[in-house]
Amino acid sequence: MEGKFLVARAGLHFWEEPPISGTKGSGTVFFGGCLLKCVYCQNYKISRKPYGMALTGEQLTDIICYLQDCGAHNINLVTPSHYIKLMPKLLENAKKRISIPILYNCGGYENLEGLKRLDGLVDIYLPDFKYGNNALGRKYSGISDYFDVACAALAEMRRQQPDCVFDSDGIMQRGMLVRHLVLPGMLVNSKKVLKCIADLDKSLYVSLMCQYFPPRKELPSPLNRRLTQAEYDNICYFFDSCGLSNGFTQELSSATEDYVPDFDLDLLKEVLDKSTSFSDKKE
Ligand code: SF4
Repeated sequence: MEGKFLVARAGLHFWEEPPISGTKGSGTVFFGGCLLKCVYCQNYKISRKPYGMALTGEQLTDIICYLQDCGAHNINLVTPSHYIKLMPKLLENAKKRISIPILYNCGGYENLEGLKRLDGLVDIYLPDFKYGNNALGRKYSGISDYFDVACAALAEMRRQQPDCVFDSDGIMQRGMLVRHLVLPGMLVNSKKVLKCIADLDKSLYVSLMCQYFPPRKELPSPLNRRLTQAEYDNICYFFDSCGLSNGFTQELSSATEDYVPDFDLDLLKEVLDKSTSFSDKKE
């Protein structure tokens, strides 16, 4: 398994923010496993324990090229943080063969030295910013220093990609978009997170997500219910009041498991077979 990537799904994805999904879809690669153990994870099937096919860098590069050929606007690496040391080599090789942007789509808990080695290789950073203090990270994600690590990571991402650049169709080519999932009953936390983002840079693009639904029955209050419209409106109002101006919001109707991707490994096997024969034809 050393040097390999555990991959749970690869394919076009249409439910990201409009400048990411566009009309043709984002070429997503979902990695199995995760550094965090969020009790409310919507993708818990692939994040809580190792799940997926172990692929070599060459196989993954073939898949990335195949996704570009399928029309993807970008390559979207989802939860790649535990492979950050392997990323420079993978991305250097992939960038020789593709022309679309590479997105690093992560939970915000990133190794700073690893991130620095991605400078010039990642075109768009798409980090979550989950908690405004370490205590919540400890309680809900099993990590004692989430806030400190995420603050440093976001500052480094912004250093690498300080400005957002869009093409003539409004598709993001470069930059950074910070995501925050508003959780039920945790508005104080959301406000602290937004305040931190505003303090870092008021012009940052922020996606305020309300798609949370309880993924498991046994979750304690307040995670055993969906967000209310009043809670979400409250946070959207606060977003404006702290001077942030570039934002994306969601409809509350997105809080459903219908949007959780299908992690059937037979689908991945199909993509892998097609990508291998696609690469053979190109040679
Ligand atoms: S960081 Fe994201 S993928 Fe990882 S456990 Fe938390 S919610 Fe799930």
